[in-house]
Amino acid sequence: MKELKDYKNEVNKCSKCGLCESICPLFKVNPNDCVASKGKFIMLNGVIDGDLELSETINKYIDLCLKCGKCKGFCPSGIDICEILAAAKYEYMKNKFSGKIINFLQSKLVFNNIINIGEFLSAPFRPKYKSLSSKVPVVVYFKGCVNRIFPNTDKSLSRILKHHPVKIIEPFFECCGLPFLSEGNLERFIQVCKHNTDELRSLNYDYLITDCASCADTISSYPKYLKDVEPLLNKSVNWGDFIAKENIKFKFKKSLKVTFHKPCHLENDGFFEEIMKNCENVEYIKMEDYDSCCGLAGSFILKNSKISQTLIRQKAKNIENVNVNYVITTCPACIIGLKQGLFGKRTKAISLLDFLAMADEII
Ligand code: SF4
Ligand code: SF4
Repeated sequence: MKELKDYKNEVNKCSKCGLCESICPLFKVNPNDCVASKGKFIMLNGVIDGDLELSETINKYIDLCLKCGKCKGFCPSGIDICEILAAAKYEYMKNKFSGKIINFLQSKLVFNNIINIGEFLSAPFRPKYKSLSSKVPVVVYFKGCVNRIFPNTDKSLSRILKHHPVKIIEPFFECCGLPFLSEGNLERFIQVCKHNTDELRSLNYDYLITDCASCADTISSYPKYLKDVEPLLNKSVNWGDFIAKENIKFKFKKSLKVTFHKPCHLENDGFFEEIMKNCENVEYIKMEDYDSCCGLAGSFILKNSKISQTLIRQKAKNIENVNVNYVITTCPACIIGLKQGLFGKRTKAISLLDFLAMADEII
């Protein structure tokens, strides 16, 4: 496991060009030098060189980040801020009493059992996937914690795939690990990386699918922490990619207008317009800043609620401007953020799978 000091060369790659400030959604609402990655790297460089203490103030700036990764894509040096902040957070939390409490809450004993109980209680409301033996695509389904507790996605999937049989395998996956990574609980994160990739080792599959953009993004980061796991993950797609590729068609009797919110962690959203072309009676209207953060960003909303609410309101305004029936997205956490902003409004937030399952006819 790499420590903060091991990122010295990466941190030093920052040329202080400031381009990250022009793309960082937080810098736009709070133009403080330490908000975007440039300022964060100046601070962390001081910490690595021993000139600065990894203090509570610096920890606040570590937490003041949506982990949206927008700056990495824009940075001429391609520095991965999220990976470096995870190492810094680990260093800060490792000897803190609050760190020990968080580690306990995120342990197998507590975290896993909460998800297991939720899954057990929702089991009677889930359809069972038929295990087909004929030659159909074999899908390993990484459901993610939210969908393990709530049965909606399973119901929607079984309807969408009714005439497009696939063999779905659901090994016993743990959480993707994003909540552990965000809190600097790197030991627990590496534990779930190992567990989840070990589950994949013995399986033969055509696709590894999740419908949560954050899970998919976190899983794609496993090779940074574990050797030899890349081949297990290179068949990774999301349900949107699969539905577009299978050319599934959806007929809606009532005409509907929709817009799309692109989650920060969704790398490719080309599938969405492909699917919309296959939805009869549905008009897609692209909203302004459709790829800006919903404002929730995991525990960010708890630690920086004022900024979070500003982003939530901005997103809701952009959605209202296009005046649609639904805002569709592919991340269960974004749906919570969107619902907050749209509370009492005409437009409803919905997952792509739940929206498609509402079609009157699926061919
Ligand atoms: S864009 Fe990259 S190189 Fe430029 S200031 Fe930001 S982090 Fe540094
Ligand atoms: S990850 Fe997102 S919020 Fe964090 S510094 Fe980069 S652009 Fe800003």
